[in-house]
Amino acid sequence: MSKSDLEIAQECVLEPIEKVAAKIGIPADSLELYGKYKAKLSFDYIKELENRSMGKLVLVTAINPTKAGEGKSTTTVGLGDALNQIGKKTMMALREPSLGPVFGLKGGAAGGGYAQVVPMEDINLHFTGDMHAITTANNLVCAMIDNHIHQGNELNIDPEKITFKRCLDMNDRTLRDITIGQGSKANGVERKDGFNITVASEVMAALCLADDLMDLKRRFGEMLVAYTYNDEPVYIKDLKCEGAMAMVMKDAILPNIVQTLEHNPVLIHGGPFANIAHGCNSVIATKASLHLADYTVTEAGFGADLGAEKFLDIKCRLAHLHPNAVVIVATVRALKQHGGVAFEDLKEENVDALLKGCENLAKHIDTIQQFGLPYVIAINQFVSDTDREIEALENWCQGHGHPMSLSTVWANGGKGAIDLAEKVVALCEKENHYAPLYDVDKTIEEKIETIAKKVYGADGVQFTPEAKEQIEIFNKNGWGKLPICMAKTQMSLSDDGSIMGRPQGFTITVRELRPSLGAGFIVALTGKVLTMPGLPKHPSALDMDIDENGKIKGLF
Ligand code: ADP
Repeated sequence: MSKSDLEIAQECVLEPIEKVAAKIGIPADSLELYGKYKAKLSFDYIKELENRSMGKLVLVTAINPTKAGEGKSTTTVGLGDALNQIGKKTMMALREPSLGPVFGLKGGAAGGGYAQVVPMEDINLHFTGDMHAITTANNLVCAMIDNHIHQGNELNIDPEKITFKRCLDMNDRTLRDITIGQGSKANGVERKDGFNITVASEVMAALCLADDLMDLKRRFGEMLVAYTYNDEPVYIKDLKCEGAMAMVMKDAILPNIVQTLEHNPVLIHGGPFANIAHGCNSVIATKASLHLADYTVTEAGFGADLGAEKFLDIKCRLAHLHPNAVVIVATVRALKQHGGVAFEDLKEENVDALLKGCENLAKHIDTIQQFGLPYVIAINQFVSDTDREIEALENWCQGHGHPMSLSTVWANGGKGAIDLAEKVVALCEKENHYAPLYDVDKTIEEKIETIAKKVYGADGVQFTPEAKEQIEIFNKNGWGKLPICMAKTQMSLSDDGSIMGRPQGFTITVRELRPSLGAGFIVALTGKVLTMPGLPKHPSALDMDIDENGKIKGLF
């Protein structure tokens, strides 16, 4: 039986983080150490880097995820190691795992096999405390709102129109809709409330889009918390707690540096989900990496319809980044599922289903082409893939003129992606015509329609009466010119998670809009997307343990 991700990670003899950082030219005194193998880049050092030129930016994205797994993080880490192996000074910029899903569904969050980031236990469990800082900053706002109302409500906040929710880094469905302030008057004003998972909070999104701490403080101030009885918006700056929030975030805003199994430097910082938030690591970490390395490999969550679209329409637009190349990850197993094969039958060879499933891959390629970017398909090989299946996929790519590379990083680490690395370097030399898909000055409806038609392949968009009403309010308040962050299921190109492959002849329904004025976008909620997940019937927490020597078991 092959070793688990955790067993492989535990066998790695880590190098001191100062030595790993030195490889990319980071002096030891520019690190804030968190033990021997984790550090943050210091505040002054980040500032110092700002004047340097930037290297090439490579995005790793994928087809729509399936239960079969795609391996975006694995490919990102393996590609970064491969680029280092061929002599390119490369760093990876990844997202921080959320603890909630760690206890829920099994699945690595820091790569897999021989393409991993370590120390994986720490990265998955608390890491350097950024999630806790975000949770605290978020919940400070909630405590301030309810205290303000309790103390006389000078701002005239309507308790029924509070939009800012509490958050927690836990999958806990019972907290989605709750009542707070029950009991005596001394317990505050009773009202309905609810929790988001921390990675779905606007505080997380703002952290990931901020230029620096002062910009983050400004963004906190801009966040909408409620409306008054007269329907006037109330912002965090009205509650005057943006300074305290920024103070809580003083360390969380600094990127974390760790290493791959091959001892190459990786920045891990910020981690919003891509289905309910914008899905990319922080701008601060991406820029620091671009200033330090000749090549930065980064990933955006889920498929290109979610993570890549938001990376290219929101993050790169707002942070003035110009990506150089895109890697689209696909697996034989996942393509077979998109072609109609049930999860239990994926072991069986099925070339016909594989080729049918390529329709899903084709749509994501089309999306990347619409953004004007050069791409290469990375086929993340599983041991169960048959030679005939791999050959059929290679022929499909060749027949349609799509550049591709077979990647075996999961089994072989960096040397499993040398060909991919060379292809990526060649793509980065090409001039490209990257541009976001829509103009922010268009109406909210037009922007959403552009994404739905061009990226999802939908015929159009339906707006519920509630959504239409909200759009009117947003326009009245002058919030209409922001980019859109779509909240949609990751499982399908449509807003119905059960439709795999390449759906045709469908519309998207937008049922609610939320202004994330501090993050700088408008969230459009479609389908049944939840901002607080639940645990499955058999949570992976049941299989986790630690022994008397501190050795962890069952964490992937
Ligand atoms: P994503 O970033 O797309 O969510 P990950 O890279 O985190 O996917 O991988 C998810 C899981 O799949 C990990 O546990 C990883 O070990 C496993 N995995 C990835 N690639 C392979 C492969 N080629 N063979 C076997 N398992 C793999």
